[in-house]
Amino acid sequence: MTTTRICSLSGYHPVATDALLEVDELRAGRRVARALKGFGAWFLAAVVCVFIPVAHFLLVPACLVGAVSVLVLRLRARSLVVRAHGVCPDCGVEQDLDVLGPWRGQPRAVSCRACHRGLELRVR
Ligand SMILES: [Zn+2]
Repeated sequence: MTTTRICSLSGYHPVATDALLEVDELRAGRRVARALKGFGAWFLAAVVCVFIPVAHFLLVPACLVGAVSVLVLRLRARSLVVRAHGVCPDCGVEQDLDVLGPWRGQPRAVSCRACHRGLELRVR
């Protein structure tokens, strides 16, 4: 289920602008399926690396650590940002914002694609 949230985008300019955030709320079943899919991909990479001479001493443990890391991170992600759009308060350019991925509702640092200044995105 995707929900839209109105956020404020602030920068050096004293007046913040609005930004729209589309967040996909992950239910437990989807969250577990997503986590197992990521774990499976990394585990499959570890199995493939077993057949690489010498390098398998490093690659297999690294892939297994990656598999467990992906499993834990994806199980913790309760919502994902699927689209973020706003107007830079400093230069006024309307743009898609680079905040895709897990969303925890905390203020998040983004940068403007046009003027490259640091901005802060926070939920109202
Ligand atoms: Zn800008």
